[in-house]
Amino acid sequence: SVRVRYAPSPTGLQHIGGVRTAVFNYFFAKSSGGKFILRIEDTDRERYNDESLQDLYETLNWLGITWDEGPDKDGGYGPYVQSERFEIYREYTEKLIESGHAYKCFCTEERLEQLREEQKKTKSKEQGYDRHCSNLTAEEVDANLADGKPFVVRFRIPVEGKTTLTDVIMGEITRKNKDVSPDPIILKSDGFPTYHLANVIDDHMMGITHVLRAQEWIPTGPLHVLLYKAFGWEPPLYCHLPLVVGKDGSKLSKRHGSTSVREFRKGGYLPEAIINYISLLGWSFDDSREFFTKEDLEKLFNLEKINKAPAVFDYKKLDWFNGQYIRMKDHEELKELLMSVLIDDEVVSNPPTDKEKSVFDGAFPIIRERLKLTTDVSGLVRFLYTDELEWNSDDAVPKKMDKAGAVKMLELARTLLEGFDSRSDEENEELFSKTVEEQGIKLGDLMQPLRVAVTGTKMSPPMVQSLSLLGEKRALQRIDGLLS
Ligand code: GLU
Repeated sequence: SVRVRYAPSPTGLQHIGGVRTAVFNYFFAKSSGGKFILRIEDTDRERYNDESLQDLYETLNWLGITWDEGPDKDGGYGPYVQSERFEIYREYTEKLIESGHAYKCFCTEERLEQLREEQKKTKSKEQGYDRHCSNLTAEEVDANLADGKPFVVRFRIPVEGKTTLTDVIMGEITRKNKDVSPDPIILKSDGFPTYHLANVIDDHMMGITHVLRAQEWIPTGPLHVLLYKAFGWEPPLYCHLPLVVGKDGSKLSKRHGSTSVREFRKGGYLPEAIINYISLLGWSFDDSREFFTKEDLEKLFNLEKINKAPAVFDYKKLDWFNGQYIRMKDHEELKELLMSVLIDDEVVSNPPTDKEKSVFDGAFPIIRERLKLTTDVSGLVRFLYTDELEWNSDDAVPKKMDKAGAVKMLELARTLLEGFDSRSDEENEELFSKTVEEQGIKLGDLMQPLRVAVTGTKMSPPMVQSLSLLGEKRALQRIDGLLS
Protein backbone atom coordinates (compact mmCIF):
# COMPACT_ATOMS: atom_id res chain seq x y z
CA SER A 1 0.00 0.00 0.00
CA VAL A 2 0.98 3.59 -0.60
CA ARG A 3 3.48 5.24 1.74
CA VAL A 4 4.53 8.79 1.01
CA ARG A 5 6.44 11.40 2.93
CA TYR A 6 7.03 15.08 3.31
CA ALA A 7 10.68 15.56 4.14
CA PRO A 8 11.40 19.22 4.80
CA SER A 9 14.74 20.62 5.84
CA PRO A 10 14.08 23.12 8.62
CA THR A 11 16.24 25.89 7.19
CA GLY A 12 13.60 28.57 6.69
CA LEU A 13 9.93 29.37 6.98
CA GLN A 14 7.59 26.96 5.23
CA HIS A 15 7.29 28.21 1.67
CA ILE A 16 3.95 27.92 -0.07
CA GLY A 17 5.67 25.77 -2.74
CA GLY A 18 7.01 23.38 -0.11
CA VAL A 19 3.65 23.19 1.52
CA ARG A 20 2.10 22.37 -1.85
CA THR A 21 4.38 19.29 -1.81
CA ALA A 22 3.17 18.42 1.69
CA VAL A 23 -0.46 18.85 0.70
CA PHE A 24 -0.15 16.71 -2.44
CA ASN A 25 1.53 13.95 -0.47
CA TYR A 26 -1.12 14.14 2.22
CA PHE A 27 -4.03 14.02 -0.21
CA PHE A 28 -2.47 11.23 -2.24
CA ALA A 29 -2.03 9.16 0.93
CA LYS A 30 -5.62 9.81 1.99
CA SER A 31 -7.24 9.16 -1.38
CA SER A 32 -5.32 5.93 -1.87
CA GLY A 33 -5.79 4.65 1.66
CA GLY A 34 -2.06 4.92 2.34
CA LYS A 35 0.13 6.49 4.97
CA PHE A 36 1.57 9.98 5.11
CA ILE A 37 4.89 10.28 6.89
CA LEU A 38 6.62 13.39 8.19
CA ARG A 39 10.40 13.20 8.23
CA ILE A 40 12.70 15.95 9.37
CA GLU A 41 15.80 16.27 7.21
CA ASP A 42 18.02 18.19 9.56
CA THR A 43 21.47 17.04 8.51
CA ASP A 44 22.59 20.45 7.38
CA ARG A 45 23.45 21.77 10.82
CA GLU A 46 24.73 25.08 9.54
CA ARG A 47 21.44 26.06 8.00
CA TYR A 48 19.23 24.36 10.58
CA ASN A 49 17.31 26.55 12.97
CA ASP A 50 14.75 25.90 15.70
CA GLU A 51 12.38 28.57 14.54
CA SER A 52 11.99 26.82 11.19
CA LEU A 53 11.08 23.59 12.92
CA GLN A 54 8.55 25.45 15.05
CA ASP A 55 7.16 27.09 11.96
CA LEU A 56 6.84 23.73 10.21
CA TYR A 57 4.64 22.34 12.97
CA GLU A 58 2.60 25.51 13.27
CA THR A 59 1.99 25.58 9.54
CA LEU A 60 0.90 21.97 9.21
CA ASN A 61 -1.30 22.24 12.29
CA TRP A 62 -2.94 25.39 11.05
CA LEU A 63 -3.71 23.76 7.71
CA GLY A 64 -4.97 20.63 9.42
CA ILE A 65 -2.42 18.45 7.64
CA THR A 66 -1.84 15.53 9.99
CA TRP A 67 0.66 12.73 9.59
CA ASP A 68 0.27 9.03 10.29
CA GLU A 69 3.90 8.66 11.29
CA GLY A 70 6.44 11.24 12.31
CA PRO A 71 8.71 12.44 15.09
CA ASP A 72 5.87 12.37 17.62
CA LYS A 73 4.05 9.37 16.16
CA ASP A 74 6.01 6.19 15.84
CA GLY A 75 4.78 3.75 13.23
CA GLY A 76 7.65 1.31 13.63
CA TYR A 77 9.91 2.98 11.07
CA GLY A 78 11.50 5.59 13.31
CA PRO A 79 13.29 7.63 14.30
CA TYR A 80 11.82 10.14 11.87
CA VAL A 81 14.44 12.81 12.47
CA GLN A 82 17.61 12.35 10.46
CA SER A 83 19.96 13.66 13.13
CA GLU A 84 18.82 10.70 15.25
CA ARG A 85 19.76 8.20 12.54
CA PHE A 86 23.50 8.77 12.18
CA GLU A 87 24.34 5.20 13.22
CA ILE A 88 22.24 3.88 10.35
CA TYR A 89 23.94 6.11 7.79
CA ARG A 90 27.39 5.09 9.02
CA GLU A 91 26.52 1.43 8.88
CA TYR A 92 25.19 1.65 5.33
CA THR A 93 28.11 3.74 4.17
CA GLU A 94 30.37 0.96 5.45
CA LYS A 95 28.42 -1.49 3.30
CA LEU A 96 28.93 0.64 0.22
CA ILE A 97 32.65 0.82 0.91
CA GLU A 98 32.83 -2.95 1.32
CA SER A 99 31.01 -3.54 -1.95
CA GLY A 100 33.29 -1.08 -3.74
CA HIS A 101 30.56 1.48 -4.45
CA ALA A 102 32.10 4.06 -2.19
CA TYR A 103 35.55 5.02 -1.02
CA LYS A 104 37.29 7.18 1.53
CA CYS A 105 38.75 10.35 0.13
CA PHE A 106 41.57 12.16 1.92
CA CYS A 107 41.91 15.10 -0.44
CA THR A 108 42.48 18.33 1.41
CA GLU A 109 40.38 21.44 0.94
CA GLU A 110 43.45 23.11 -0.66
CA ARG A 111 43.78 20.38 -3.25
CA LEU A 112 40.10 20.56 -4.13
CA GLU A 113 40.29 24.32 -4.40
CA GLN A 114 43.26 24.04 -6.74
CA LEU A 115 41.39 21.49 -8.82
CA ARG A 116 38.40 23.79 -9.16
CA GLU A 117 40.58 26.67 -10.27
CA GLU A 118 42.39 24.57 -12.82
CA GLN A 119 39.13 23.32 -14.23
CA LYS A 120 37.91 26.87 -14.47
CA LYS A 121 41.12 28.13 -16.08
CA THR A 122 41.43 25.41 -18.68
CA LYS A 123 37.65 25.38 -19.23
CA SER A 124 38.00 21.66 -18.88
CA LYS A 125 35.00 19.51 -19.71
CA GLU A 126 35.85 17.44 -16.66
CA GLN A 127 33.93 19.08 -13.88
CA GLY A 128 33.81 18.11 -10.25
CA TYR A 129 35.99 15.71 -8.37
CA ASP A 130 38.76 14.03 -10.38
CA ARG A 131 38.45 10.69 -8.57
CA HIS A 132 41.93 11.14 -7.17
CA CYS A 133 41.33 8.84 -4.18
CA SER A 134 39.13 6.33 -5.96
CA ASN A 135 41.90 3.81 -6.45
CA LEU A 136 43.89 4.07 -3.25
CA THR A 137 45.16 0.69 -2.12
CA ALA A 138 44.09 -0.74 1.20
CA GLU A 139 47.61 0.00 2.50
CA GLU A 140 47.44 3.62 1.42
CA VAL A 141 44.06 4.05 3.10
CA ASP A 142 45.31 2.45 6.31
CA ALA A 143 48.40 4.63 6.31
CA ASN A 144 46.28 7.76 5.93
CA LEU A 145 44.01 6.66 8.71
CA ALA A 146 46.98 5.87 10.92
CA ASP A 147 48.23 9.40 10.25
CA GLY A 148 44.90 10.66 11.51
CA LYS A 149 44.07 12.34 8.21
CA PRO A 150 40.45 13.45 7.99
CA PHE A 151 38.41 11.92 5.22
CA VAL A 152 35.02 12.02 3.53
CA VAL A 153 33.29 9.12 1.84
CA ARG A 154 32.47 9.45 -1.83
CA PHE A 155 30.05 7.48 -3.95
CA ARG A 156 31.53 5.98 -7.09
CA ILE A 157 29.52 7.07 -10.14
CA PRO A 158 29.91 4.56 -12.97
CA VAL A 159 31.81 6.01 -15.93
CA GLU A 160 29.85 4.06 -18.49
CA GLY A 161 26.15 3.39 -19.02
CA LYS A 162 22.93 5.21 -18.38
CA THR A 163 20.48 5.52 -15.54
CA THR A 164 16.73 5.73 -15.83
CA LEU A 165 14.22 6.85 -13.30
CA THR A 166 10.53 6.28 -13.69
CA ASP A 167 8.39 9.31 -13.14
CA VAL A 168 4.64 8.94 -12.97
CA ILE A 169 4.13 12.28 -14.68
CA MET A 170 7.17 12.77 -16.87
CA GLY A 171 7.61 9.15 -17.95
CA GLU A 172 11.10 7.67 -18.07
CA ILE A 173 13.93 10.10 -17.46
CA THR A 174 17.29 8.77 -18.67
CA ARG A 175 20.71 10.31 -18.13
CA LYS A 176 24.18 9.18 -19.14
CA ASN A 177 26.16 8.28 -16.06
CA LYS A 178 29.06 10.36 -17.30
CA ASP A 179 26.80 13.39 -17.00
CA VAL A 180 26.23 12.76 -13.31
CA SER A 181 28.77 14.83 -11.40
CA PRO A 182 31.54 12.54 -10.10
CA ASP A 183 31.90 11.28 -7.20
CA PRO A 184 29.60 13.00 -4.73
CA ILE A 185 30.31 13.02 -1.02
CA ILE A 186 27.86 10.89 0.91
CA LEU A 187 29.43 11.13 4.35
CA LYS A 188 31.19 14.28 5.50
CA SER A 189 34.40 14.36 7.52
CA ASP A 190 32.46 14.97 10.73
CA GLY A 191 30.42 11.82 10.10
CA PHE A 192 27.33 13.71 8.93
CA PRO A 193 25.58 12.22 5.92
CA THR A 194 24.73 14.41 2.95
CA TYR A 195 21.18 14.83 1.78
CA HIS A 196 21.44 12.22 -1.01
CA LEU A 197 22.59 9.37 1.20
CA ALA A 198 20.22 10.05 4.05
CA ASN A 199 17.26 10.63 1.76
CA VAL A 200 17.75 7.37 -0.14
CA ILE A 201 18.39 5.23 2.92
CA ASP A 202 15.40 6.68 4.73
CA ASP A 203 13.01 6.39 1.82
CA HIS A 204 13.98 2.77 1.47
CA MET A 205 13.91 1.90 5.15
CA MET A 206 10.65 3.71 5.70
CA GLY A 207 9.04 1.78 2.86
CA ILE A 208 8.27 4.85 0.78
CA THR A 209 6.46 3.81 -2.41
CA HIS A 210 6.10 7.18 -4.15
CA VAL A 211 8.34 10.22 -3.94
CA LEU A 212 6.31 13.36 -4.65
CA ARG A 213 8.60 16.36 -4.69
CA ALA A 214 9.32 19.44 -6.77
CA GLN A 215 10.75 19.18 -10.28
CA GLU A 216 13.87 20.97 -9.15
CA TRP A 217 15.00 17.62 -7.74
CA ILE A 218 14.98 15.91 -11.15
CA PRO A 219 18.70 16.54 -11.77
CA THR A 220 19.63 14.61 -8.63
CA GLY A 221 17.22 11.79 -9.47
CA PRO A 222 19.76 9.67 -11.41
CA LEU A 223 22.22 9.87 -8.52
CA HIS A 224 19.54 8.62 -6.17
CA VAL A 225 18.66 5.74 -8.47
CA LEU A 226 22.36 4.81 -8.67
CA LEU A 227 22.47 4.74 -4.89
CA TYR A 228 19.44 2.43 -4.75
CA LYS A 229 21.13 0.13 -7.24
CA ALA A 230 24.37 0.12 -5.30
CA PHE A 231 22.47 -0.99 -2.22
CA GLY A 232 20.58 -3.56 -4.26
CA TRP A 233 17.25 -1.86 -3.56
CA GLU A 234 14.28 -1.08 -5.78
CA PRO A 235 13.85 2.70 -6.20
CA PRO A 236 10.42 4.19 -5.42
CA LEU A 237 8.19 5.65 -8.11
CA TYR A 238 8.93 9.32 -8.63
CA CYS A 239 6.37 11.97 -9.16
CA HIS A 240 8.05 15.31 -9.73
CA LEU A 241 5.68 18.21 -9.22
CA PRO A 242 5.63 21.27 -11.47
CA LEU A 243 7.36 24.38 -10.22
CA VAL A 244 5.35 27.15 -8.65
CA VAL A 245 6.11 30.40 -10.45
CA GLY A 246 4.98 34.01 -10.39
CA LYS A 247 3.15 35.74 -13.22
CA ASP A 248 6.47 36.47 -14.93
CA GLY A 249 7.36 32.79 -15.07
CA SER A 250 10.20 32.90 -12.56
CA LYS A 251 10.23 30.83 -9.41
CA LEU A 252 7.86 32.26 -6.81
CA SER A 253 9.79 34.57 -4.52
CA LYS A 254 9.47 37.63 -2.30
CA ARG A 255 9.44 39.75 -5.42
CA HIS A 256 6.00 38.42 -6.28
CA GLY A 257 4.47 38.79 -2.81
CA SER A 258 4.09 36.68 0.30
CA THR A 259 5.71 33.28 0.02
CA SER A 260 5.67 31.77 3.49
CA VAL A 261 2.49 30.29 4.86
CA ARG A 262 3.14 32.27 8.03
CA GLU A 263 2.76 35.50 6.06
CA PHE A 264 -0.49 34.30 4.55
CA ARG A 265 -1.77 33.24 7.95
CA LYS A 266 -0.96 36.60 9.50
CA GLY A 267 -2.26 38.34 6.41
CA GLY A 268 -5.84 37.23 6.94
CA TYR A 269 -6.14 34.09 4.84
CA LEU A 270 -8.17 31.09 5.90
CA PRO A 271 -6.59 27.64 5.89
CA GLU A 272 -9.52 26.32 3.83
CA ALA A 273 -8.78 28.82 1.08
CA ILE A 274 -5.04 28.13 1.10
CA ILE A 275 -5.59 24.37 0.93
CA ASN A 276 -8.10 24.69 -1.89
CA TYR A 277 -5.97 27.13 -3.84
CA ILE A 278 -2.69 25.26 -3.57
CA SER A 279 -4.32 21.97 -4.47
CA LEU A 280 -4.88 23.55 -7.87
CA LEU A 281 -1.22 24.50 -8.29
CA GLY A 282 -0.37 21.81 -10.78
CA TRP A 283 -3.39 19.59 -10.32
CA SER A 284 -6.92 19.64 -11.59
CA PHE A 285 -9.92 17.42 -11.12
CA ASP A 286 -11.53 18.18 -14.44
CA ASP A 287 -11.53 21.28 -16.56
CA SER A 288 -14.04 23.24 -14.60
CA ARG A 289 -14.41 22.42 -10.92
CA GLU A 290 -12.50 24.77 -8.62
CA PHE A 291 -14.07 24.40 -5.21
CA PHE A 292 -12.81 21.58 -3.07
CA THR A 293 -12.98 21.24 0.65
CA LYS A 294 -10.22 19.35 2.39
CA GLU A 295 -12.61 16.42 2.75
CA ASP A 296 -13.31 16.46 -1.00
CA LEU A 297 -9.62 16.39 -1.80
CA GLU A 298 -9.00 13.56 0.63
CA LYS A 299 -11.24 11.51 -1.63
CA LEU A 300 -10.68 12.96 -5.09
CA PHE A 301 -6.98 13.72 -5.36
CA ASN A 302 -5.05 11.60 -7.83
CA LEU A 303 -1.67 11.56 -9.52
CA GLU A 304 -3.04 11.23 -13.06
CA LYS A 305 -4.15 14.85 -13.19
CA ILE A 306 -0.88 16.43 -12.13
CA ASN A 307 0.55 18.74 -14.81
CA LYS A 308 4.06 19.02 -16.14
CA ALA A 309 3.91 22.73 -16.90
CA PRO A 310 4.76 25.25 -14.19
CA ALA A 311 1.88 26.41 -12.03
CA VAL A 312 1.40 30.17 -11.92
CA PHE A 313 0.62 31.53 -8.47
CA ASP A 314 -2.16 34.05 -8.88
CA TYR A 315 -2.49 36.21 -5.77
CA LYS A 316 -5.73 37.79 -6.97
CA LYS A 317 -7.29 34.40 -7.46
CA LEU A 318 -6.26 33.35 -3.98
CA ASP A 319 -7.85 36.52 -2.57
CA TRP A 320 -11.03 35.71 -4.41
CA PHE A 321 -11.02 32.19 -3.00
CA ASN A 322 -10.44 33.60 0.44
CA GLY A 323 -13.43 35.93 0.16
CA GLN A 324 -15.59 33.01 -0.91
CA TYR A 325 -14.47 30.90 2.02
CA ILE A 326 -15.04 33.77 4.44
CA ARG A 327 -18.64 33.95 3.26
CA MET A 328 -19.07 30.20 3.53
CA LYS A 329 -18.07 30.28 7.16
CA ASP A 330 -20.56 29.82 9.93
CA HIS A 331 -21.50 33.29 11.20
CA GLU A 332 -20.66 32.75 14.84
CA GLU A 333 -17.32 31.21 13.97
CA LEU A 334 -16.50 34.02 11.59
CA LYS A 335 -17.45 36.66 14.14
CA GLU A 336 -15.13 35.13 16.65
CA LEU A 337 -12.31 35.04 14.15
CA LEU A 338 -12.87 38.66 13.17
CA MET A 339 -13.08 39.70 16.81
CA SER A 340 -9.63 38.23 17.36
CA VAL A 341 -8.32 40.32 14.46
CA LEU A 342 -9.86 43.42 16.06
CA ILE A 343 -8.17 42.55 19.34
CA ASP A 344 -4.82 42.06 17.62
CA ASP A 345 -5.18 45.35 15.81
CA GLU A 346 -6.19 47.06 19.07
CA VAL A 347 -9.45 48.26 17.61
CA VAL A 348 -11.24 46.76 20.61
CA SER A 349 -10.05 45.93 24.11
CA ASN A 350 -8.82 42.54 25.16
CA PRO A 351 -11.19 41.04 26.09
CA PRO A 352 -13.76 43.13 24.24
CA THR A 353 -16.44 44.86 26.32
CA ASP A 354 -20.13 44.09 25.82
CA LYS A 355 -20.55 47.46 24.18
CA GLU A 356 -17.74 46.74 21.71
CA LYS A 357 -19.27 43.38 20.96
CA SER A 358 -22.68 44.81 20.28
CA VAL A 359 -21.23 47.48 18.00
CA PHE A 360 -19.62 44.66 16.06
CA ASP A 361 -22.85 42.67 15.92
CA GLY A 362 -24.44 45.70 14.27
CA ALA A 363 -21.66 46.08 11.73
CA PHE A 364 -21.26 42.40 10.89
CA PRO A 365 -24.04 42.05 8.29
CA ILE A 366 -22.76 44.98 6.23
CA ILE A 367 -19.05 44.18 6.34
CA ARG A 368 -19.29 40.43 5.78
CA GLU A 369 -19.84 40.89 2.07
CA ARG A 370 -16.83 43.12 1.75
CA LEU A 371 -14.10 40.99 3.23
CA LYS A 372 -11.43 39.42 1.09
CA LEU A 373 -9.09 38.93 4.01
CA THR A 374 -10.08 38.61 7.64
CA THR A 375 -7.62 41.43 8.35
CA ASP A 376 -9.76 43.75 6.22
CA VAL A 377 -12.16 43.98 9.13
CA SER A 378 -10.18 46.51 11.15
CA GLY A 379 -10.17 49.10 8.40
CA LEU A 380 -13.87 48.62 7.83
CA VAL A 381 -15.09 49.07 11.40
CA ARG A 382 -12.45 51.20 13.09
CA PHE A 383 -14.54 54.35 12.57
CA LEU A 384 -17.22 52.93 14.85
CA TYR A 385 -14.80 52.55 17.74
CA THR A 386 -12.87 55.78 17.76
CA ASP A 387 -13.55 59.44 17.23
CA GLU A 388 -9.91 60.12 16.55
CA LEU A 389 -9.72 59.53 12.84
CA GLU A 390 -6.70 60.39 10.83
CA TRP A 391 -7.86 61.99 7.65
CA ASN A 392 -5.99 62.57 4.55
CA SER A 393 -8.01 65.56 3.43
CA ASP A 394 -6.95 65.04 -0.20
CA ASP A 395 -8.87 61.78 -0.11
CA ALA A 396 -12.01 63.78 0.49
CA VAL A 397 -11.72 65.59 -2.85
CA PRO A 398 -13.27 63.59 -5.69
CA LYS A 399 -11.59 63.46 -9.07
CA LYS A 400 -12.52 66.37 -11.31
CA MET A 401 -13.48 68.42 -8.28
CA ASP A 402 -11.54 70.97 -6.29
CA LYS A 403 -11.38 71.55 -2.59
CA ALA A 404 -14.14 74.13 -2.64
CA GLY A 405 -16.37 71.66 -4.43
CA ALA A 406 -15.71 69.04 -1.80
CA VAL A 407 -16.53 71.55 0.93
CA LYS A 408 -19.83 72.24 -0.78
CA MET A 409 -20.59 68.53 -0.85
CA LEU A 410 -19.91 68.24 2.85
CA GLU A 411 -22.17 71.16 3.58
CA LEU A 412 -24.91 69.52 1.59
CA ALA A 413 -24.32 66.22 3.41
CA ARG A 414 -24.60 68.11 6.65
CA THR A 415 -28.10 69.26 5.84
CA LEU A 416 -29.11 65.76 4.77
CA LEU A 417 -27.92 64.40 8.09
CA GLU A 418 -30.29 66.56 10.09
CA GLY A 419 -32.94 64.19 11.42
CA PHE A 420 -31.08 61.18 10.01
CA ASP A 421 -31.65 59.01 13.07
CA SER A 422 -35.38 59.50 13.01
CA ARG A 423 -35.67 58.10 9.48
CA SER A 424 -35.30 54.53 8.29
CA ASP A 425 -32.33 53.43 6.15
CA GLU A 426 -34.65 53.23 3.14
CA GLU A 427 -35.91 56.77 3.72
CA ASN A 428 -32.37 58.03 4.04
CA GLU A 429 -31.28 56.24 0.84
CA GLU A 430 -34.25 57.79 -0.85
CA LEU A 431 -33.38 61.27 0.38
CA PHE A 432 -29.78 61.01 -0.80
CA SER A 433 -30.65 59.81 -4.27
CA LYS A 434 -33.47 62.26 -4.69
CA THR A 435 -31.24 65.15 -3.66
CA VAL A 436 -28.38 64.31 -6.03
CA GLU A 437 -30.84 63.86 -8.83
CA GLU A 438 -32.49 67.21 -8.22
CA GLN A 439 -29.20 69.01 -7.96
CA GLY A 440 -27.56 67.22 -10.86
CA ILE A 441 -24.70 65.80 -8.77
CA LYS A 442 -23.09 62.42 -9.11
CA LEU A 443 -23.87 60.27 -6.07
CA GLY A 444 -20.20 59.31 -5.81
CA ASP A 445 -19.14 62.94 -5.65
CA LEU A 446 -21.34 63.45 -2.63
CA MET A 447 -20.43 60.19 -0.98
CA GLN A 448 -16.65 60.36 -1.24
CA PRO A 449 -16.15 63.49 0.89
CA LEU A 450 -18.80 62.27 3.30
CA ARG A 451 -17.26 58.83 3.57
CA VAL A 452 -13.79 60.23 4.23
CA ALA A 453 -15.14 62.67 6.81
CA VAL A 454 -17.10 60.03 8.68
CA THR A 455 -14.93 56.91 8.37
CA GLY A 456 -11.50 58.35 7.65
CA THR A 457 -11.09 56.10 4.61
CA LYS A 458 -12.23 55.91 1.02
CA MET A 459 -13.32 52.34 1.56
CA SER A 460 -16.09 51.63 3.96
CA PRO A 461 -19.25 49.63 4.22
CA PRO A 462 -22.31 51.15 2.50
CA MET A 463 -22.66 54.76 3.55
CA VAL A 464 -26.22 54.96 4.86
CA GLN A 465 -25.84 51.84 6.97
CA SER A 466 -22.49 53.08 8.23
CA LEU A 467 -24.04 56.39 9.20
CA SER A 468 -26.89 54.77 11.01
CA LEU A 469 -24.46 52.58 12.96
CA LEU A 470 -22.48 55.65 13.89
CA GLY A 471 -25.45 57.88 14.65
CA GLU A 472 -26.28 61.36 13.47
CA LYS A 473 -24.55 63.23 16.24
CA ARG A 474 -21.15 61.66 15.81
CA ALA A 475 -21.40 61.88 12.04
CA LEU A 476 -22.11 65.61 12.19
CA GLN A 477 -19.23 66.19 14.58
CA ARG A 478 -16.88 64.48 12.16
CA ILE A 479 -18.06 66.51 9.22
CA ASP A 480 -17.53 69.66 11.24
CA GLY A 481 -14.13 68.37 12.26
CA LEU A 482 -13.05 67.97 8.68
CA LEU A 483 -14.58 71.28 7.63
CA SER A 484 -12.86 73.26 10.37
N1 GLU B 1 14.87 17.73 2.43
C1 GLU B 1 14.60 17.91 1.04
C2 GLU B 1 14.00 19.29 0.87
O1 GLU B 1 14.13 20.10 1.63
C3 GLU B 1 13.67 16.82 0.55
C4 GLU B 1 13.63 16.62 -0.92
C5 GLU B 1 12.90 15.35 -1.25
O2 GLU B 1 11.68 15.35 -1.08
O3 GLU B 1 13.52 14.37 -1.61
O4 GLU B 1 13.39 19.71 -0.01
